[in-house]
Amino acid sequence: MRQSELFTKTRREAPSDETAKNAEFLIRGGYIHKEMAGVYSYLPLGLRVIKKIEDIIRWEMNNIGGIEMKTSILQNKEVWEKSSRWDDNVADSWFKTKLKNGGEIGLSWTNEETFTNVLKQYINSYKDLPVYAYDFKEIFRNEARSKSGIMRGREFYWKALYSFSKDEIEHNTFYEKAKQAYQNIFEKVGIGSLTYTTFSSGGTFSKFSHEFQTITEAGEDIIYVDEKKRIAVNKEVYNDEVIESLNLKKEELVEKKAIEVGNIFTLGTKFSEPFDLKYKNEKSENQLVFMGSYGIGLGRLMGAIVEILSDDKGIVWPESVAPFKIHLIEIPSESDEVKKKSLKIYEKLGEDNVLYDDRNIRAGEKFNDADLLGMPLQIIISEKNIASNKLEFKDRKTGEVKMISEDELPNLC
Ligand code: ATP
Ligand code: MG
Repeated sequence: MRQSELFTKTRREAPSDETAKNAEFLIRGGYIHKEMAGVYSYLPLGLRVIKKIEDIIRWEMNNIGGIEMKTSILQNKEVWEKSSRWDDNVADSWFKTKLKNGGEIGLSWTNEETFTNVLKQYINSYKDLPVYAYDFKEIFRNEARSKSGIMRGREFYWKALYSFSKDEIEHNTFYEKAKQAYQNIFEKVGIGSLTYTTFSSGGTFSKFSHEFQTITEAGEDIIYVDEKKRIAVNKEVYNDEVIESLNLKKEELVEKKAIEVGNIFTLGTKFSEPFDLKYKNEKSENQLVFMGSYGIGLGRLMGAIVEILSDDKGIVWPESVAPFKIHLIEIPSESDEVKKKSLKIYEKLGEDNVLYDDRNIRAGEKFNDADLLGMPLQIIISEKNIASNKLEFKDRKTGEVKMISEDELPNLC
């Protein structure tokens, strides 16, 4: 993409009411636009990051048997009354609206009822199970706090998968696969080493649920980390009995601030009971379906990546989620040679891989912008470099500069 065609511009300052580092850099870079507290629009560059994260998650979900669909955002009161979660005293994060002809509808704040209600139409026999259905979706929550930028929105984008299994044994097998898939996702987006599978409160059907907590000062949770075993315990369940039951030692656990980037949960029959979601087993007996839920916030993940992988100049994207792999910086010059060479390289590497700074502005401004925007690799084309017949490469993360010959380009993309 040519930067001259990108309508967004970088800004020196973020809005003064924005305190979170992730939102500050993302707003200054023109990745997102703040509509109001906890509500952000994703601009062209921001959307490219979300789409890359989405592709990584989709691949991992399909790999464990997930099947993608899309549930509606407007929610039916009657469906939610079955589980008692229409009641604002039970679920306090609803956004609801009155309909013109009477009645009320709500905006999705979670998905268990929605999926259970759909799957009830299709699950009758043991032959129909298991089912692992998921969607990517906008979620709306009337959150009290919204000071963490895109990590805690009132409107946010997530992936939610629901597993429908014949029994607990079948459920547990999938649950372990999902845990691994989640670890793979965090590894692929570049925050694997800081993300811990964390034991937290579990509900009725299992002692624990598992959160995926990424260590950052910007986090809202406190966890206790065993760095060697690579697991952690959330403060909400942290006590002597739990520590012992997990074979951990108090003196080896370190207290850290962390943000929950995902979680997986055994639901058991909590939703299949009120929805009467049953199947006939091989003996034609009716059995309740055994369920699990598996969530990830894409905006939260993007925000966590920025929190962790930025420096004082700006964002440092890992290649897997960077909007573009390469920032091609043409240094304006009197001769046409620089433009010609830049264009040639742009075409060679492909417009989907390269953000091409073809703007006629000062070199210093271009370098600042490139550092703020954070593509992993910068290629600088100047009169001087053309004269030496080499290209100048700068690694955004290390700042290391290398002179490379043009023949080495094809290996880049
Ligand atoms: P938290 O404990 O942080 O409030 P939660 O436990 O309510 O989150 P879930 O309802 O399980 O979260 O949602 C699944 C995932 O969705 C979370 O792990 C997180 O990644 C993301 N998420 C939850 N709330 C928000 C939010 N307000 N803004 C952005 N992402 C969110
Ligand atoms: Mg939570």
